[in-house]
Amino acid sequence: MKEFELIHRFFDGVGPWRDDVRLGVGDDCALLRVPAGKELAVTIDTLVEGVHFHQGADPESLGHKALAVNLSDLAAMGAEPAWATLALTLPGADPHWLAAFSRGFSRLAAAYHVQLVGGDTTRGPLTISVQAHGFVTAGRALRRDGARPGDLVYVTGTLGDAGLALRGIEDIPAPAGCLPYLQSRLQRPSPRLGEGRALAGLAGAAIDISDGLISDLGHICEASGLGARLELERLPRSPAGQAWLDETGDWSLLLSSGDDYELCVTVPPGRQPEVERLAAGFECGLTRIGVMEPRPGIRCLRADGTELEKPSRGYEHFSS
Ligand code: ADP
Ligand code: MG
Repeated sequence: MKEFELIHRFFDGVGPWRDDVRLGVGDDCALLRVPAGKELAVTIDTLVEGVHFHQGADPESLGHKALAVNLSDLAAMGAEPAWATLALTLPGADPHWLAAFSRGFSRLAAAYHVQLVGGDTTRGPLTISVQAHGFVTAGRALRRDGARPGDLVYVTGTLGDAGLALRGIEDIPAPAGCLPYLQSRLQRPSPRLGEGRALAGLAGAAIDISDGLISDLGHICEASGLGARLELERLPRSPAGQAWLDETGDWSLLLSSGDDYELCVTVPPGRQPEVERLAAGFECGLTRIGVMEPRPGIRCLRADGTELEKPSRGYEHFSS
């Protein structure tokens, strides 16, 4: 299969047609229109075989995840997704692999009305880069530097599920029925787009949890020049996460494992009632887990008030 045939067959026309796309796949550039009064939010993420997924990973899930992790970044800014571009480096042109990858990508793209407007296709070790573009009302984006002392810290969904799936089936002291759920949390994360947009204008700061709560909340702390205090008992967990905790007493699962793609937001105390009313409509839930403080660093308190020693940070690519 030639490069152009491959693009035409698997990537031309992915997603719904949008009328803000003047020109999509097929020319040297896409031509796109940003609505008046909106800012363009742009993000890119790469998945590398052997680093982010193992050889032989399910291509349909990869198509989903490559887009989902980018939509999660848009969610964390409170942005509405619009377009994506895809740079694919492939060891070969396997039509079965490409069809499944394209299916996973397209389904998620269609669900959030995202159009694939261009990309690049090259030969080499399997690497998938997706760039996503979205709109946010000018001045309304949720940034990492927007937290203030006394702001309440919230997270969506549950923490540690993707981390449990990564630990391998044999090692998980969790009910067997949980495994498909855990696998889907790892392989097909749900970007919290509706939640992010609903919180834009209410929350002070936001981030998506890709590298673990301590690491990612740590970015909010650093950007805002603050620290935080967390109440461990409040950390939201699934039945599988609870089973793990009961068995091991190991909080690092909830604090430091990555790949959950939940949102962590800070909320000024005056906005708490409004945010909690809003959150009653979030299917994934929104849980208050702590508070921002002037003192740098993140302190994790047990129910008895004692402090957890040195909670580890999450994954870092160049930490050697
Ligand atoms: P150029 O050489 O001008 O960069 P390419 O031959 O790389 O163009 O790509 C031709 C067209 O196909 C362009 O519009 C490009 O955006 C699009 N394209 C290439 N690869 C992909 C892909 N994997 N997914 C979507 N569009 C792609
Ligand atoms: Mg090119």
